[in-house]
Amino acid sequence: MTALEAAKPASRLYERVSRVIPPIEWPVFEADVEAILRLKGERGAIILAHNYQTPEIYHCVADVVGDSLMLAREAAKSDARVIVMAGVHFMAETAKLLNPSKTVLIPDADAGCSLAESISAEDIALMRQRYPGAPVVTYVNTSAEVKAASDICCTSANAVKVVESLGVPRVIMTPDEYLAKNVAARTHVEIIAWRGRCEVHERFTAADIRELREAHPGAIVLAHPECPPEVVAEADFAGSTADMIKYVGAKRPARVALVTECSMSDNVAVQYPDVEFVRPCGLCPHMKRITLKKIRHALETMEGEVTIDPAIAAPARRAVERMLAL
Ligand code: SF4
Repeated sequence: MTALEAAKPASRLYERVSRVIPPIEWPVFEADVEAILRLKGERGAIILAHNYQTPEIYHCVADVVGDSLMLAREAAKSDARVIVMAGVHFMAETAKLLNPSKTVLIPDADAGCSLAESISAEDIALMRQRYPGAPVVTYVNTSAEVKAASDICCTSANAVKVVESLGVPRVIMTPDEYLAKNVAARTHVEIIAWRGRCEVHERFTAADIRELREAHPGAIVLAHPECPPEVVAEADFAGSTADMIKYVGAKRPARVALVTECSMSDNVAVQYPDVEFVRPCGLCPHMKRITLKKIRHALETMEGEVTIDPAIAAPARRAVERMLAL
């Protein structure tokens, strides 16, 4: 046995993340991981973790992993009494909308999102006045109030389908300007865009992609549609978080660059050890507010419960369910 092997933690949980967490860092996480696994059983809880969560959360304590919509849908199938959302606040709200009888906890209530914060229900009302008759398609990255003021929700994976399902020549699309522009490039429906941006994806530039290709010859570049259209144009493929993972799983490129949030590459790298990941990533400070310690605290205290005014919840749920029915 080499000195390095002797220094490796014995924990079977560590094996899941050994590709992305050095052995010396594991003791920082181990006690919290074990406490969370015990508390989940005691509370009848499940943990939903978004793809942008760090690997020790994503691979060691989560019961369901995926994008925000998948998390909410999977939670609805569970008979757990308590749902802990390892993600941002709008995701916890969406989980609550689809699981009204369950207790939904968010380990840090300040885990926000620049897109969700870019628009209010009053803004939607103003857009409706300005473009009478145009239905409002709203990205799931929004508050329950904004969903309630909208006609239907969409995700980055189904946005084109949702827009075209309405059978009208013009729609208002909120809040992500770049997602709206990337959708507009793929449909004949006229798209009126709001000016919201994801603070992580808006920073990527077409020049970044060209430099990346020069530095890492042969890398296949996958970009999220929250990136500016010129970044999407430079990429080999543009798709939602789930679509990017499917692409890597199906095509197994030798070398790939995921133009998105940093932890996504770490998490997918664990799944596909035969693929080399180039990391041109940005960190989402909101996602990173969620830590193992805060998840443990939420389960110990049951603090951080998400509640939604029933008068808001009913129309917001309708907008989400209308999308799910497609
Ligand atoms: S990555 Fe962007 S869209 Fe996702 S939570 Fe962070 S700010 Fe919001």
